[in-house]
Amino acid sequence: MIQHDVVIIGAGLAGMRCALEACKELDVAVLTKVYPSRSHSGAAQGGIAASLGNSEPDSWEEHMYDTIKGGDFLNDQDAVEEYVKAAPRVIYELEHMGCIFSRTPDGKIAQRSFGGHSKPRACFSADRTGHAILHALHEQLMKNEQSVKIYNEWYMHSLIVDGDRCNGVVVSNIQTGEVEVIQAKAVVFATGGYGRVYKITSNAFASTADGVMAAFEMGLPLEDPEFVQFHPSGLYRQGILFSEAARGEGAYLLNGKGERFMETYAPSRMELAPRDIVARAEQSEIDAGRGVNGEACINLDLRHLGKERIMERLPQIRQLGIDFLGIDCITDCLPIQPTAHYSMGGIPTDMFGHVISDEKGTRVNGFFAAGECACVSVHGGNRLGTNSLLEAVVFGERAGKSVLEYAVGIDYANVNEGQEKARVLKKFEDVYQRDGSESYNDIRDEMKEIMMSHCGVFRDEEKLKVCIKTLNGLQERFKKGKVTDKGKLFNTEIYEILELGNMLGMAVIIAKAALERKESRGGHFRTDFPKRDDKNFLHHSMVFDTPDGMVIKTKPVVITKHQPAERTY
Ligand SMILES: Cc1cc2nc3c(=O)[nH]c(=O)nc-3n(C[C@H](O)[C@H](O)[C@H](O)COP(=O)(O)OP(=O)(O)OC[C@H]3O[C@@H](n4cnc5c(N)ncnc54)[C@H](O)[C@@H]3O)c2cc1C
Repeated sequence: MIQHDVVIIGAGLAGMRCALEACKELDVAVLTKVYPSRSHSGAAQGGIAASLGNSEPDSWEEHMYDTIKGGDFLNDQDAVEEYVKAAPRVIYELEHMGCIFSRTPDGKIAQRSFGGHSKPRACFSADRTGHAILHALHEQLMKNEQSVKIYNEWYMHSLIVDGDRCNGVVVSNIQTGEVEVIQAKAVVFATGGYGRVYKITSNAFASTADGVMAAFEMGLPLEDPEFVQFHPSGLYRQGILFSEAARGEGAYLLNGKGERFMETYAPSRMELAPRDIVARAEQSEIDAGRGVNGEACINLDLRHLGKERIMERLPQIRQLGIDFLGIDCITDCLPIQPTAHYSMGGIPTDMFGHVISDEKGTRVNGFFAAGECACVSVHGGNRLGTNSLLEAVVFGERAGKSVLEYAVGIDYANVNEGQEKARVLKKFEDVYQRDGSESYNDIRDEMKEIMMSHCGVFRDEEKLKVCIKTLNGLQERFKKGKVTDKGKLFNTEIYEILELGNMLGMAVIIAKAALERKESRGGHFRTDFPKRDDKNFLHHSMVFDTPDGMVIKTKPVVITKHQPAERTY
């Protein structure tokens, strides 16, 4: 049995920032199914928010209000306050760690505008911000190699929980297929989001709901899963992200008639309204037949920004347009469509990174979560751009501090290695042996298709019921699939099947919670209930797995400074 004081699952921004904190006094393992710098955080383009006030006067109070209004008042305001207050310090710390930010002419950290932020607040490294931060953190971890061991290309299967205490994880080495138990005093999940359940998504292949489902399978609830963010600018048919930084720099959105249609939907913020509003506006134009050339896309126009600015500020995404669509945004418009981008929901935590097991906030001893897999909830019903990298770093650090408080000086709990291993091996072997007639690729495609068409930007009762029924059918077919590679070495087929199982489970949870929330708020829009309903739905959803099936309870929203108000832009 492998033993570490703390095991962190995930080497994105949240996992690595947490490790840097915890390794000050503890022996830390970071386990990741992809090489750390391949974590999805590295794909982040646009920026990280902080009220530095380098281009216009700004304050944490304004950042707080923008975040809450952007989240449609579902955010827990005590957590938002702590988080926006920490932002400027966090940026300077990242800079001191070696993260290179773009500059103003007088040498300050440059800041650009982003949707829903009333001030230019996004600190950035051209359009490779996540890449810059991820590498800086990875370097810091390598500097601490005596207290941090990184398990690259290992897969976490399951949590080890005894009563109200978490004592480790069951994992396997992807290279050899060997299953191992890691005994730990504390476990941290930083496993990222689950955008891959949708057909059109900006998310990396690794964003597949493994962490959230491992928690759910241990009887823990998931919070607000119905809130999935669709980003307005995914490359048409590809989903690959074309950063909001383009609109931050001044790009226009045009429908098939060449009109800047945001005039109708958000006249004061136009293209820089929050993502939920812009994505719905685009989808409405497409559904009304005003897409470009009658297709399901609209145009992003950067031509007026000029070659020099595009090459300085947006070089990477220009190249994406050339590589994937053969279109150069310096001379032509880019066709785009809404793309599944971010999961506001996840494993419920308090604002110190402790996972909670119920709507009253009861802590699970030794289990922590941070980053996109967690729901604190600082984003409420809709996250503002650049607030997620900030969340990963702020709450990664906080979870690390909480781990130190909890785990220094305590003993390991007993773990029955044979029993824990056998539990996972049984599931693993069961998949290996499958020799049915169903194709896992077909099942995956059908899941993505139904989630996109029936549980996407616009939802209604009828569509959601069809969606759930279809997903249940796919879950049945999943048990009768065919595995072609029976080998142990680097058997990526097996891991993709395990991920698909997790995604199917997560898809059902999203759709059921969406059916239950009979209102429209943030990223969740019900055409049959198009208004926000604070009287009946100003609460978080808490989805539990019980012997009698899924049960959805509610958790109050923490409101401190800002009473819910009408959300207009
Ligand atoms: C294309 C794109 C651009 C974005 N741009 C921005 C931006 O400009 N600003 C912003 O604020 N936000 C942005 N976001 C959102 C932001 O990047 C993410 O929310 C954030 O980086 C998530 O960080 P994380 O550490 O929680 O998870 P991730 O970086 O996703 O890392 C997850 C980690 O978990 C590991 N993992 C998962 N499951 C397992 C398992 N079963 N076993 C072992 N390891 C596992 C993975 O290997 C990985 O290391 C963007 C997102 C995308 C997709």
